[in-house]
Order: sequence, then structure tokens, then C-alpha cells
Amino acid sequence: MLKHITCLAGAVLTVLSLQAAQAEPVVVYSARKDHLIKPLFDAYTQKTGVEIQFTTAKEAALLERLVAEDKNTPADMLMTVDAGNLWQAAERGVLQAVNSDALEKSIPEHLQDPDNQWFGLSVRARTIVYSTERVKPSDLSSYEALGDAKWKGRLCLRTSKKVYNQSLTAMMITRLGEEKAEAVVKSWVDNLATDVFSSDSQLLEAIAAGQCDVGVVNTYYFGRMQEENPEVPIAIFWPNQDDGLGGVHVNVSGAGITKYAKHPEEAIKLLEWLASPEAQGLFASLNHEYPANPSVPSSDLVRAWGDFKPDTINVAEAGRLQVEAVKLMDRAGYK
Ligand code: FE
Repeated sequence: MLKHITCLAGAVLTVLSLQAAQAEPVVVYSARKDHLIKPLFDAYTQKTGVEIQFTTAKEAALLERLVAEDKNTPADMLMTVDAGNLWQAAERGVLQAVNSDALEKSIPEHLQDPDNQWFGLSVRARTIVYSTERVKPSDLSSYEALGDAKWKGRLCLRTSKKVYNQSLTAMMITRLGEEKAEAVVKSWVDNLATDVFSSDSQLLEAIAAGQCDVGVVNTYYFGRMQEENPEVPIAIFWPNQDDGLGGVHVNVSGAGITKYAKHPEEAIKLLEWLASPEAQGLFASLNHEYPANPSVPSSDLVRAWGDFKPDTINVAEAGRLQVEAVKLMDRAGYK
């Protein structure tokens, strides 16, 4: 009799928790800014009825929060930028592997974690930009060649503290080996026109203002600038396009399901949708990025920059070699 009552109580609890689960929203921690994700989440809610509750904060703060919250985290999904940060999250044990045919079909191999703990959702190209008033594109060739003597006092760089440059350097280590990569970074530092900048946008402004002639930025920052001022005398150059030079450095923004997600099935469905053709165009174009799903075209503004060959080494390498890259940049005097 007692056993019977326990069973019944258990059944009632199960029903209650099922109802609760249905009513509960999927919770997302996002380092991607509010205005870049809200339109997508709204579209998903409208389509499925599933509410999404999201918190935005800086990459590092979100990761520390997930680590601290551990099993008690309300978050089902972590959305962040740069493979270096995604790799860190996997390394710190806050994500879980997701085996999904839909995700495998949507996202190319080199843009996802080899262990399936995270998936790229948009691609950002970190490439060369130049003053169309003072530089001919034929003067440019590769990232490495920005260390040539002809760029003495003409190069601008963003700080090495930014993960984007750590990832760029890490991928260069993969391609060239540590010694050569260090020599390249040193040659860049020798060519600097001025102190390093704290943002890609400041760097672009410096080129426009004539403070320097060439630099390296994520293309979406140029997209934002172009949107405000289509006549800005700066253009994009795609380096390393010759065989054996790797291709343009690309990175991702992406997401993974948290290890202690309370609504893992719902969160995986949301992730699959974000990677699907239906969502990918909007996901990428809101930030002038490239869709990670190759079946989806880029926005008109982005397409106007032309096609390029990307480096297809798995972006996870950027995380694996991050510490090495930071030390290398420090040795090279790159602030
Ligand atoms: Fe950014």
C-alpha cells in the first residue's frame, strides 16, 4: 500500500514537472549583443511558441558565471564569439557534446568542435584593409608580407589582448610553425605606425584619417563603417589566396548546450534552427557576417566585397594554441 502511494506521488510529480518543463523558457547566456540575437529569438518564439530568456554579458564573465553556477545554472545554451572562447568553454567543462544529424549537415566540419561541444553559427573573416588613397591592392599579398620594409610606419594593429588576434596568431603557428610565426609578428610590430588600438573600429578610423595605410580587422566592422559612410576610402583585401598560403583567416561566433542544461532537447532544437537555412541569413546579416551554413548566401553588402578562399584548418586550433600565441606575441613585443 505504502509502495503504491509512493508510485502515485511519483507519477503526479512527473506530470507536474512535465507541465513545468513545457511552460519554462529556454535560457541562453549570450556574448553576442542583444540587437544581434533578439530578432532571431523572436522569430523562433513566433514559429514554435517556445519562449527564450536570454542574458547578455562579456564572454569571460559568462564563462565564469557558468563555472560558478555549475549544476545549478539556469542556462541551457552558451552563445559566444570566437573559437578561442568556445574552446575555453569546452575546456572548462561547461558544455556537453551534441550529436545531431541536422547540425552536422548544416555546419562544415572545420567550423565546429571535433567533439561536438560547440558549433559555429556565423563566420567572420579577419583580413587586411587598406587606404584606397595611398595603397594599391597590387602592393598587398599576405598577412606575412605586412612585415615587409615598405610598410614601415604604415601598419595599424589592434591590441594583442583581443582574442581575435590571439586566434589569428594561433592559426599562423599552425601553418608556419612557432619560429616563423614569431618572426612575422615581430616584423609587424616593427612596422607599426602608432600604438595598438583597443578596437577594430578605431583602427579603421585611423586609416580613414591618414594615421596609417593598412591594417587587419574583422570585415563586419568595415561593414558597419560602410553602412554609415559608403564613400569611406578604405577597401578590403583578401590575403594568402595563392596555393600553400592557407587562405583568409576565418573565425566563428557559435554556441553550445550547457552541461547542466535543464531543457536540453528544447535547446538543441533551437541550436538546430539557428544553423538552418531559415535562420542563417538573418543571423549572419544582422552583423554583416558570413553564414556558417554554406547553402545560405551572404547579404548584398557582404557579397560586394567579393569571394575569397578561407583557411580551412579547424577553428578549434585557435583555442588549442591560444596560450602559445599569447606568449609568442608577448615575446615579439606586440602589446
Ligand atoms: Fe567583434
